[in-house]
Amino acid sequence: MKITIFNPFILFCALSMTLIGRADGASEKLHVRITDTTRQQGEFFTITVTNTTGEPSLQFLDHPYRMFRQSDGSWRALVPVENLTVPGSYTLLVRSGEREETISLTVEPNNRAIQHITLDSSRAKLKATELEKSRVKAALQTQSPEQLFSGNFLRPVDGPTSSLFGLKRSYNDGPVDSYHKGLDIDEPEGAAVKSTAKGRVILTGTVGEGFQVNGNTVIIDHGQALISVYLHLSAITAKEGEAIEAGEIIGAVGQTGISTAPHLHWGIYLYGTSVNPELFVK
Ligand SMILES: [Zn+2]
Repeated sequence: MKITIFNPFILFCALSMTLIGRADGASEKLHVRITDTTRQQGEFFTITVTNTTGEPSLQFLDHPYRMFRQSDGSWRALVPVENLTVPGSYTLLVRSGEREETISLTVEPNNRAIQHITLDSSRAKLKATELEKSRVKAALQTQSPEQLFSGNFLRPVDGPTSSLFGLKRSYNDGPVDSYHKGLDIDEPEGAAVKSTAKGRVILTGTVGEGFQVNGNTVIIDHGQALISVYLHLSAITAKEGEAIEAGEIIGAVGQTGISTAPHLHWGIYLYGTSVNPELFVK
């Protein structure tokens, strides 16, 4: 299957690297291709490895990343750059059998502003329940091998962006120790919310079940460690476990959980780390 979603990156920054294996001393080469070796906080590196013996192992910032086999026989991983990563140069380690390569990758600052958020006392007191925390965490870590997404992703609702991904956050003048892990889109209560891409619904959670922070929640697995989330919904129409097409309606905009006005919070995660959803839409 031809994947078109990353073509802009390839066009803009056709820095592809072919590195020659050393450890085996033979002519066999380990090919590592990276569409751009410099990315900002909250973005991701697209890494493709070919000419391997089985699945290569990948390590970046002390974290191992599973690689997924593509239809052309290559192995690929979309490695996220966490939004609070200190800018600088970091080593990517690729291993396949006896062969090992190291590549320097650069993380640049995204210069997102600090957002001061005031919550009224009843909402400020809301804390995530254990059920909410554990179910959301497990869903975000899902790494299913089949790629379900293809092409450009859809914006789940049409309204204007009211809050960017990656804004550093202070609640009620507290310390800046978190950031906005998605994109907020303004829409009136009840507006239809669509799935950003083809996938499988892996979580539906309601306020009544204990989803007090995120509110009514839908999480969709798009395959190969790519997950989308939809928060603060007024209603959920998707069913847990069901296959879903791109653009299919999954629920309605609301302001459940910690939310000061009706809006959709839309997030995209790679290997459990949130990245900027705007990278995936045209
Ligand atoms: Zn939000």
